[in-house]
Amino acid sequence: MSERKLSNPHIEALEPYQSARRIGGSGEVWLNANESPFPRRPQPMDVSEYHRYPDRGPGEVEAAYARYAGVTAEQVLALRGADEAIDLLVRGYCRAGQDKVLISSPTYGMYEICARIQDAGVVDVPLTEDFQLDVAAICARDDVSVVFLCHPNNPSGNALRRTDLEAIVERFAGEALVVVDEAYIEFSPAQSLVPLLAAHEHLVVVRTLSKAFGLAGVHVGFLLAGAAVMDTMLKVVAPYPLADPCAQIALRALSSDGIALMRSEVAASTAVRETFAAELAGLPAVTATLASTTNFVTAAFRAPDQAWEALLEDGIVARRLPHPRLAQSIRFSVGTQEEMERVLGVLRALSQGPH
Ligand SMILES: *Cc1c(COP(=O)(O)O)cnc(C)c1O
Repeated sequence: MSERKLSNPHIEALEPYQSARRIGGSGEVWLNANESPFPRRPQPMDVSEYHRYPDRGPGEVEAAYARYAGVTAEQVLALRGADEAIDLLVRGYCRAGQDKVLISSPTYGMYEICARIQDAGVVDVPLTEDFQLDVAAICARDDVSVVFLCHPNNPSGNALRRTDLEAIVERFAGEALVVVDEAYIEFSPAQSLVPLLAAHEHLVVVRTLSKAFGLAGVHVGFLLAGAAVMDTMLKVVAPYPLADPCAQIALRALSSDGIALMRSEVAASTAVRETFAAELAGLPAVTATLASTTNFVTAAFRAPDQAWEALLEDGIVARRLPHPRLAQSIRFSVGTQEEMERVLGVLRALSQGPH
């Protein structure tokens, strides 16, 4: 076999995604992947049908998510995390070597990674000074197939302005897909763009159970869209996307008890976040704390390397951010109150110590 057949040049040029778990390291306080700090309870599992391929995924789980999200079951596709939704959208709508996606950095890394895997182009229209969309520059593009909007945005933590989102949705009607990634929307549910889905065939909303629902280890996500996008997605999705144990756990999370538990945990995390962000903002070591409507807080440091080392020494693993604009910043997932106090303790000692 020739060497060319053993490699695909545009894949060879890629770097593997540095997921929080892959970066790993040693630590005891994990605040780097925006996971829920609340441990899940043991649950009984019905294994009697495990000799068959799963069929709870397409049916029951999608119906349950539709009830929760306020859409019809036909508008819901259950997948292996929001990440699979992002991947399928790029594969379904971007021709390799020809089409482009639009991102607004700094934002979630998987949009660009999925585009590169597909050999699609990436147009970056950076966020403005206050981490909002540059609407005029985005709307001026006429060469993109998929526009990715992260709302609220990871890693800055802020919700995007409603009027901006609506202007972009209107602008690309009939021209490009507008994908709104609502991975953290449970922390500000009134901001969701789901109510716009019915009137906009080119709008897609991406959701997950990995964050507010506290099920990152189960990795279930959803793509919400109208009939045209759904037809395309059904052509590219792998058979049986949800393993049955995952479907059973997702169904319980989407029961009325499960949703009530999620809402109480969101309220608890929000209270911890607000106290943590206020304390952080008062530290001499911190130069800026970004206002967050999520389960993480990003802050800029006078001496980020020193802060990072001190945190690691205490077993605290947070997240450094690759984007040049955030080179001074560290992102902290909101853990338990004790964990956040431990972070503050390390950072307080730091700012008082000798320099
Ligand atoms: C965590 C995250 C995802 C990935 O969600 P999964 O369902 O775990 O794949 C997608 N988008 C954003 C913005 C995220 O922060």
